[in-house]
Amino acid sequence: MTGIAVLGSTNMDLVAYVARAPGRGETVTGREFRTIPGGKGANQAVAAARAGAEVVMIGAVGDDAYGVTLRAGLEHSGVRTDLLRTAQGPSGTAHIVVDDEGGNAIVVIPGANATMTTLGPGETAAIAAADLLLLQLELPLPAVVEGAQAARAQGVRTILTPSPVQLLPDELLDCVGVLVPNEHEAAALTGVGDPRAAAAVLLRHVPEVVITLGARGCLYAGRGGEPVLFPAPEVTAVDTTGAGDTFVGTLAVALGEGRPVPEALAWASSAAALCVQRPGASTSMPYRGEIDAV
Ligand code: ATP
Repeated sequence: MTGIAVLGSTNMDLVAYVARAPGRGETVTGREFRTIPGGKGANQAVAAARAGAEVVMIGAVGDDAYGVTLRAGLEHSGVRTDLLRTAQGPSGTAHIVVDDEGGNAIVVIPGANATMTTLGPGETAAIAAADLLLLQLELPLPAVVEGAQAARAQGVRTILTPSPVQLLPDELLDCVGVLVPNEHEAAALTGVGDPRAAAAVLLRHVPEVVITLGARGCLYAGRGGEPVLFPAPEVTAVDTTGAGDTFVGTLAVALGEGRPVPEALAWASSAAALCVQRPGASTSMPYRGEIDAV
């Protein structure tokens, strides 16, 4: 079994379902409200565990009721939580508006995630023992860099989702094996709108880049080859929340199993397409059998 360490955020998603998202100063009446376990780190952990990896989650929840629910949710999907800290104060929350076209707008309040400023020896050891490390940018950057460096020291391949997008220091980029921005993040990181051109810029810093393009699929670029577009399956999206995390979590499993890149990307695309056809983020992530059945 592939061993994956995820160093990242755990949030409770507070989701309002509306016909149309409100503009500034506007109030709209929504249709439904749900609390759904989320956070980019936890979502990627759930996606990878459901796709068949042994996953350890490194991060922090708060000492509130959400923290208890978040930990239980991870364990329910088979994610190891013995290294998930319980910090004093509230858990992280994400305030999400999902509209009838399946689009979303999100505000994240970090809460307990913000207490993850440095790693302990147990956390570093778990990263060193993994086959792959998954990173995002919802924890304080010093901890993300520390995790990436612990991985590099042991030759552990690191996949970074640069979200929420910010300037990436060289000390982090030097440790990244695969960078997976969406097209907006790729444009923000490079100042270049065209994904192929953006990929070329990013390849100066990391060996492999996958730019996700929503319903259009993804663009893969590695050093020494032309970028390749992998189209997404044509499906009807009801909620795209968590699509990117499903994609990354399942991609990590496939790469960890040594599958060739095209096969790994097709598998991750199938998983993400299943996710967008159901409401919710982590709750809508598919299990291995479902992905294989596509
Ligand atoms: P999110 O923030 O909503 O989780 P993202 O912005 O990180 O997503 P996207 O590029 O929107 O990432 O989507 C990631 C992947 O999910 C895409 O590369 C694609 O494989 C799949 N996907 C997203 N939307 C659709 C869709 N409408 N139909 C099929 N697949 C989709």
